[in-house]
Amino acid sequence: MTFSRIFLLVPVLLAGLAFAVWQQYLDLPPRWNPWAPLDFHEPPNLLTSFKLRRLAQDRQLCEQVLASAPLRYANVPDSTPEPGCPVENSVRVEGSVVRFNGPFLATCPLAAAYALFERHGLQPAAQAVFRQPVVRIDHFGSFACRNIARSNRRSQHASANALDLAGFRLQDGTRITVARDWQGSDDKARFLREVRDAACDVFNVTLGPEYNVAHRDHFHVDMGGFGICR
Ligand SMILES: [Zn+2]
Repeated sequence: MTFSRIFLLVPVLLAGLAFAVWQQYLDLPPRWNPWAPLDFHEPPNLLTSFKLRRLAQDRQLCEQVLASAPLRYANVPDSTPEPGCPVENSVRVEGSVVRFNGPFLATCPLAAAYALFERHGLQPAAQAVFRQPVVRIDHFGSFACRNIARSNRRSQHASANALDLAGFRLQDGTRITVARDWQGSDDKARFLREVRDAACDVFNVTLGPEYNVAHRDHFHVDMGGFGICR
């Protein structure tokens, strides 16, 4: 068989494999089954972004998945808080293992991605660098009915699909902020770089101080775009 024929077979085999998994002829472990619900105990893998995207379309699946998330949240009916900025399939996140400076509105995929990030990215980074957990997060908010700065495209904040993370407090009271501690070579700077990289593993878009001056004091994370990590 020529190389090109073998090459043609690959998509056919992949489609067959996907069909077999979908029809449950083939029993994969849930973390490698694209149609199994997201499990917050499992670290992110290649299928995580697919599983998170599915939540955007399916409120019922979203409710099922978030019920198992380590989050305190309240369901929020679909609404249009400000003209031109409808908020759909969203919850109000009130707390988790950490406290927040205030509750925030989040689309289901954003809330689920946040829960994964906290457990598998943020807390391991804090343990690795400081040998203690983060107990509080200060954010600059999620919902804002506006366009991206200096553009006429709607920001992901306009649909509560983005969150701005500004600071972290450790169990012993140590405070770490993106504004003050990003530039440096100490443990705080090292921790912030690990947090940024961990955010990139889960959120579709992660933008920090290296992106532009508008992000000098926070990490913007959102579930709108495709694989931007800067
Ligand atoms: Zn932002």
